[in-house]
Amino acid sequence: MSEKISSANGFVQRLMKKVPYTPAAPGLDDLKTSKANKGFSRLSFFKRRIKLKPNSSISIPLGFVLLFPSIVVLLILILVVKHPSSPGRILIPAGTPPSIRKISEKHDRVFATGCLNPEDAAKQPRANAAFVVLARNQELEGVIQSLKSIERHFNRWFHYPYVFLNDGEFTEEFKSGVQNYTSGKTEFGQIDPSMWGFPDWVDIEVAKEGIRKQGDAVIMYGGMESYHHMCRFYSGFFYKHELLDKYEWYWRLEPEIKYFCDITYDPFIEMARNNKTYGFTIAVKELKETVPNIFRYASAYKRKNKIKSQGLWEMFLEPPPEKAAEKKDNREKTFPNAILQTEVGHQNIEEIDPEDMEGEKYNMCHFWSNFEIARLDWFRSKEYEDFFQMMDHSGGFWMERVSFFVLEFANILTGVQWGDAPIHSLAAGALLAPKDIHYFRDFGYRHTTIQHCPANAPARQSPHIPYLEKTTLVEKERIEEDEYWANPDPPKENGVGCRCRCDTDIRDVEGKEGSCLAEWVEVAGGWASP
Ligand code: GDP
Ligand code: MN
Repeated sequence: MSEKISSANGFVQRLMKKVPYTPAAPGLDDLKTSKANKGFSRLSFFKRRIKLKPNSSISIPLGFVLLFPSIVVLLILILVVKHPSSPGRILIPAGTPPSIRKISEKHDRVFATGCLNPEDAAKQPRANAAFVVLARNQELEGVIQSLKSIERHFNRWFHYPYVFLNDGEFTEEFKSGVQNYTSGKTEFGQIDPSMWGFPDWVDIEVAKEGIRKQGDAVIMYGGMESYHHMCRFYSGFFYKHELLDKYEWYWRLEPEIKYFCDITYDPFIEMARNNKTYGFTIAVKELKETVPNIFRYASAYKRKNKIKSQGLWEMFLEPPPEKAAEKKDNREKTFPNAILQTEVGHQNIEEIDPEDMEGEKYNMCHFWSNFEIARLDWFRSKEYEDFFQMMDHSGGFWMERVSFFVLEFANILTGVQWGDAPIHSLAAGALLAPKDIHYFRDFGYRHTTIQHCPANAPARQSPHIPYLEKTTLVEKERIEEDEYWANPDPPKENGVGCRCRCDTDIRDVEGKEGSCLAEWVEVAGGWASP
């Protein structure tokens, strides 16, 4: 009998090694005691003490030996996933606020973090400044949208004047139309043909004929000609317009733009107080495949005038390749200084790799010039004028060689690299230092599908100041519009905005590919927070 039991026990013991313990299994209950005694239950397996060395007197439970490494592995996993630069961050549930990185304040800092009292600020004297709006009569509606936005968020307190410019004549409808929405003085100017259109040193017939021969370019031509004139006007003439003569500062305003935050201080006064020359809200790369001839000339201007970078030029350069020094040596062999220093207009310049100047390559970054707050006397300086003249006349160089000229001219017409944005930016790069530039990071701004809109500054918000704009005739709509702005976005750590309510259909340009924030930060002193 005892033999039977022990053989049955032996069977159970063998079974227990294969099958996990099941409490509900019948007939096993009474066996449990003997099992436990013999140390075969699952728990007791973990409780079993083992010695690390065969003849050591110290023993530790087996469970601990097995559990310890698992805990360590788990901890490492948690740390890796939680690290801010980990791709595994996606695993963290939504709702965690994205961190806003602080920029070094070595050369530049926001003028105000969060809200100030605009009524107090408006008691101070104004700067000698105006809004500049270039527009066509048919853009009235878009202009009104922009005026409503800037009045609501800023000019209702400060009442800066507006200068409207047009190559044609403004209609009475346009003039009276905009005046319904402006709280500052308005002036309307027509642009003289000397500032708009083909310069007299361009043979228009040759240019047009050449373009006609370019097949597809014919289609482009009609629409693009005025665009070219516009870019040239904003590059080299707007600041010479007589209506701007009396002003020291300007703020450029385009049709169909939006502001998202309240601007509760006077940016002109702050620009002056901080010795700034040029302010931007968005800096982007031109992503289209283009031959950046513009950089070749900008670079030639710099070299010809023996201008040394004051630290901003680097914002517009591709980072030097690893073998930069080696490359430069090779270049010197291929392109003797005589060629590199050729005057623009000399035949030899075409032998220079148009994308590559002395090892420097344009990274296509530019301040997006549809928003600008800047000093007019910088544009009026001899240095800027020389720069513009050189850029402008560079096209003339190709005149004698029609095929090249047409190509060059087609580039001008598409307005990409010859837009006023890279002209202003490369001039700034050559002539200014990072400390002369201001990034209006606290301004929420949108033009077409690009926007920059900051998070609101924590603990620095103040209540919405009602603004029932008078021109919306339907009472209900007026109230609804104001209520929209009465509900700003929640503040976030490191936010700088005041009562911003950002559009949510597109992402902030700061975090997008094609943004030049990193390039700006690099020259502005680096990041101040991870
Ligand atoms: P984009 O922002 O580069 O797409 O260029 P826009 O078409 O917005 O033009 C830039 C600015 O110049 C806007 O303020 C336009 O109203 C203005 N503009 C463009 N072309 C003309 C033109 O032929 N005549 C006038 N008067 N203004 C123009
Ligand atoms: Mn525009």
